[in-house]
Amino acid sequence: MTIIDGKLISEQVKAELKIEVDKIIAAGGSVPHLAAVLIGDNGASESYVSSKIRSCEQIGFKSTLVRRDANATEEEVLEIINDLNNDEDINGFIVQLPLPAHINVDKIIEAIDPKKDVDGFHPINIGRMAKGLPAYVSATPYGVLELMKRYKIETSGKHCVVVGRSQIVGLPMSILMQRNAYPGNCTVTLTHSRTQNLKEITLQADILVVALGRPEFITADMVKPGAVVIDVGLTRVDDATKKRGYALKGDVKFDEVSEVASFITPVPGGVGLMTVASLMYNTLLASRGEIYG
Ligand code: NAP
Repeated sequence: MTIIDGKLISEQVKAELKIEVDKIIAAGGSVPHLAAVLIGDNGASESYVSSKIRSCEQIGFKSTLVRRDANATEEEVLEIINDLNNDEDINGFIVQLPLPAHINVDKIIEAIDPKKDVDGFHPINIGRMAKGLPAYVSATPYGVLELMKRYKIETSGKHCVVVGRSQIVGLPMSILMQRNAYPGNCTVTLTHSRTQNLKEITLQADILVVALGRPEFITADMVKPGAVVIDVGLTRVDDATKKRGYALKGDVKFDEVSEVASFITPVPGGVGLMTVASLMYNTLLASRGEIYG
């Protein structure tokens, strides 16, 4: 069994990006610039955004944080997006989710210029990805693909079961794994909360990608021996023994599933770090105009 080291691979990706930034600087070009919009004071969102900003600093990207409190109106957020769309110095930006309940998330995402949508959430980027056209691929699924590539995981002809159909993880993951590409060429089953006999289906998976947000939901008896198990789940669970008062838990019961899997991602130290690295990669693509010219 191999533990997929997301920390190591994300550091490799960021080191490669830093080399690109050094080349841009040496050539007198302008370094990629990522902006993040953070609305409200959700603790998890705060830490995701600071890790994105820290990664920008590490690589040498410029970063800008636009913050508003939880009372910001939808119009105010749309105004921020309009400003970022028109700011020529900013190559790409993200709006950290979730947004406060009074703000319509679809409206916000659709207001982002697809050329600057480095999270890959805009319908145009999702549609282009589904058609196999150049597109920003959303960072978490993209990070999973990169892990598969760097660990040379065979995907062609395999049965990939995705648990969870969210717009940001499960759905794009299922589209990517069926594409005629590497990683891809899988036969894909996409499951969700209405799926019946989930265990029968997960037991057929050569590759099991889990993103439902229920800590330790996938147990060893749900996994085929030798399967590749990718755990996207990331939930804060109260833990008085930790200094910060919580532990991060994945959707897979790591101790027992690692006994049957051939490859497995740990939590933390797996997919989460790759999400940030992929966002940085998309920002480099944006600064070079590689997707939309
Ligand atoms: P989400 O939007 O809440 O979607 C959860 C999905 O799981 C839904 O499609 C839901 O089905 C399905 N589901 C719920 N209970 C189920 C069950 N008993 N059996 C089968 N499917 C079930 O979640 P998300 O945004 O994709 O996030 C999922 C997890 O990934 C969370 O822990 C989140 O924190 C984590 N995450 C991590 C990263 C990272 O960078 N590592 C990035 C994004 C998300 P329905 O559609 O029928 O409701």
